[in-house]
Amino acid sequence: MIVIEKVRLIDGIADGARGPVDVVVDGERIVAIRDHRPGPPPAGEETARRIDGSGRTLLAGFVDCHCHYPIDPLADDGFALFGQEPHERTILRAARSAAAALRAGVTTARSAGAPGNLDVVLRDAIAAGDTPGPRLLAAGPALTITGGHGWLFGREADGELELVRAVRTNVRDGADHIKVVASEAAMLTTAVAGVEEMTEAEVAAVVREAARLRRRVMAHAQGDQAVRNAARAGVASVEHAFLANDETLAVMKECGTTLVPTLTVTDVWSALPGRSPDQVERQAVLSRLHRRSTESAIRMGIPIATGTDCGVKGVLPEHLAREIRNAWDHGLAPIDAIRAGTVNGARLLGLADEIGTVEAGKVADLLLVEGDPLADLRRLEEVALVLQRGRIAHDPRGLAA
Ligand SMILES: [Zn+2]
Repeated sequence: MIVIEKVRLIDGIADGARGPVDVVVDGERIVAIRDHRPGPPPAGEETARRIDGSGRTLLAGFVDCHCHYPIDPLADDGFALFGQEPHERTILRAARSAAAALRAGVTTARSAGAPGNLDVVLRDAIAAGDTPGPRLLAAGPALTITGGHGWLFGREADGELELVRAVRTNVRDGADHIKVVASEAAMLTTAVAGVEEMTEAEVAAVVREAARLRRRVMAHAQGDQAVRNAARAGVASVEHAFLANDETLAVMKECGTTLVPTLTVTDVWSALPGRSPDQVERQAVLSRLHRRSTESAIRMGIPIATGTDCGVKGVLPEHLAREIRNAWDHGLAPIDAIRAGTVNGARLLGLADEIGTVEAGKVADLLLVEGDPLADLRRLEEVALVLQRGRIAHDPRGLAA
């Protein structure tokens, strides 16, 4: 049993923080939350491990809805590296990235595509306790058209029949959800376009077959038409939506699509060294349009969930707190930015009954940070303790020693 005492609590339900409270964890779960009162511990808690939460804030562990742990964000071209190194080497890096994410407070993560089912292997190794990392939901290889974005490590499929078969193959091989690449990558092309690579009918065929297999679909979509196709086709989330205009965002709103804007990619790439003048120019346009799209989405009340897209050049598994701050910078109130990083992700992944809020009965995936993040979201990077399934996963201050 663990009791985190005298702590300020952001439970993800209330519109602010409260406290000081004591949060009691027994086994995997939170069993009680009560106002702190001085005095001896209540009956049954005499032998509990007590952690001093004063001056600190407790919240639900982060959910990173878009990660690529096998890709090396520090390599010159991490995506190309795939073809050159053996999978055994890649999986070791993936394990290191997952461990780094957990230390930064990410207790749940959704893979956005990996080569050769490496995320399935990593998920199972983490679940078995062989290597530390967030509870991972695996996609397997992303579905992409022949020669489409990410084909080097995706599963190429063209037309509804092949896409349906690809969904079945991924699920057979262990995928928890399906990732589709519905457009090109705007930044990697020679014009800022993000042109659609799948038709609405193709994405709809993927969604239908995934639903039959009780799986949700996430869609990489950057150009306006591609975002609209994906939303109309019924995907659970659109990733990026860099170039979506207001009419398309209204379609997302109507369809109940969650937006995972991956703002940190644009943030990092805006200052990435070593770019050609042409790339600098295109990134400037993209940054402006991406800001407009996300700010509109937030104004319109489209549900936002955080995803780092870590693995992309310069974007690290530790960047989830930065993504939350970026969401605030695009118009979310601090409390809603924290919800985007916790409960909204849990909802998107279908795990809201288990995680995402701090309540009695929920799984004790918890993050303790210094100070008050509602006053300064940078506090989310000052991790004091990470609990995963009720066990201490990271204790950089020696609070549980
Ligand atoms: Zn991605």
